Amino acid sequence: MNRTRILVVDDEAAIVRLCERLLRRAGYEVVSFVESPAAADFLRRERVDLLLVDVRMPVLNGFDLIVEARQRHPEMAILIMTGFGTMEMAVQALRQGVDGILLKPFETGEELIGAVRQALADHQRKRDVARMQALRPLFDITETLLAETNLPRLLDLIMTAVCGHLRCEHAAFYRYSSETNELELVVRRGMEFPAREVSSLEGGLIGRTDALGAPLWVSVPEGVGEADLRADLSARGLAHAMTAPIIRQKVRGVLLAGRGKGAPSFHEADLEMFILLARQAGVAMENAELYEELRQYVRQVEESQQALVRAEKLATAGRLTASIAHEINNPLQAVQNCLHLAQRAELDATKRQEYLALAQAELERLMKTVQRMLEFYRPGSLERQQVMVDVLLQQVLALMSPQLEQRGIRVTTGFSSKLPPILAVKSQLEQVFINLIVNAYDAMPEGGELRITARPVRGMVEIIFRDTGPGIPPEDRVRIFEPFFSTKPQGTGLGLSVSYGIVAAHGGNLDLLPERSRGASFRILLPIRGERT
Ligand code: ADP
Repeated sequence: MNRTRILVVDDEAAIVRLCERLLRRAGYEVVSFVESPAAADFLRRERVDLLLVDVRMPVLNGFDLIVEARQRHPEMAILIMTGFGTMEMAVQALRQGVDGILLKPFETGEELIGAVRQALADHQRKRDVARMQALRPLFDITETLLAETNLPRLLDLIMTAVCGHLRCEHAAFYRYSSETNELELVVRRGMEFPAREVSSLEGGLIGRTDALGAPLWVSVPEGVGEADLRADLSARGLAHAMTAPIIRQKVRGVLLAGRGKGAPSFHEADLEMFILLARQAGVAMENAELYEELRQYVRQVEESQQALVRAEKLATAGRLTASIAHEINNPLQAVQNCLHLAQRAELDATKRQEYLALAQAELERLMKTVQRMLEFYRPGSLERQQVMVDVLLQQVLALMSPQLEQRGIRVTTGFSSKLPPILAVKSQLEQVFINLIVNAYDAMPEGGELRITARPVRGMVEIIFRDTGPGIPPEDRVRIFEPFFSTKPQGTGLGLSVSYGIVAAHGGNLDLLPERSRGASFRILLPIRGERT
């Protein structure tokens, strides 16, 4: 750790020597002057932690030295010595912001050392308070900056924070571009700044800050900073400037705060504040950048998802068109053949009649398919009424039981006694039930069991059809609701898709339950009020 450095200034050489001896013995590093102009000159070049000064001296008196020292080094503690321990003197000294007063001649070494320690401690306390006060706006800045995720708006906020908190009218942010290897002006306040700077140790203020990776502080009137940088600053019409590098993974650049001619110099506390602000600005910029990347990523995911949906729709439409063409083409060809045969001159009347009847039958089949397709797209066009699903199911079963029994299919039912009536198009529900029962019938050519249950579930009626057939292979599970998907030689593949359309038009849902044991289980959920939920 650096030793505490004390500057002793007194026109009495004996006092200076005494102080030197006592302070060095106490472990301090001491520099001393008997002439105050020499001390002032030293202070312009060097830094000390405490100034111990006599207030009454020829040429440049102690007070003048204090004023100058305060201005130049606000971080330095000041202890004055005086032989005239008057009230007036003490008040004036305190007004100048000194940290302690020592009366001359002091009796013991402890008196001097005690006063020095006290002044250093008091000054440290004052600095801590001041730092806290300076930090408070920084917390506000951090909060404001981190809340902004839009980069252009954030850059604007950073400029406002720099100018407002460092009381300067000029500010700029240059961002390093790896493509051009240059620093590009991104945002500015006050004067015009060059659009580009080269990152180099021999470059101007911006370029050098980036190349050094360290903050710089230049003041033309105060002679702070390297001569070429001062000349550069002055040429631009600036008197004081501070720069700080921003080095983050996603953002590299230089932040600048500047004051024009006639404005006071920045202080060390300003530089501290500026460095912290630059750090916060860097974090906030990186945040905004990451946020933007995330936004773009989400957009991409959404777009690819939409593309997938579109592709899937196209694929389904393609399959659908092919199936429709196939479905319609077969009977059409049959009709064409029949008509062609019927036209043959040598044909007798009965044969001709037969061909025409065949054509008629094929046309009817065609019309039925078209009709079912239309139903598929126009479910719900009929009037709704109160329907008791258990009653309707019993009616359907009564109608179909001869066929089912013939195949050795045992039908069992489990209907809740609390089933409410539902608002539905009766004939359409009937069609759905028939479709599901016929599918179960088809699935069990050697007989089996079909269990149908119905119960109310949270504002809906749930109906389940469970058979003991072979079930549905996993690869077909997603396709069975597609129109024209059929594994049966004579199947239309429309039963499930039409049923699905009807149930959906009633605000309900038809799905295939996961297989628990042998067979397939279809579940219908229908809202009691017959509306979409
Ligand atoms: P179709 O009965 O004319 O084939 P559907 O749309 O009613 O048309 O059914 C489509 C396909 O779903 C059937 O071909 C069959 O492969 C399958 N499927 C439907 N219900 C069952 C069931 N209960 N058990 C096994 N497979 C079934």
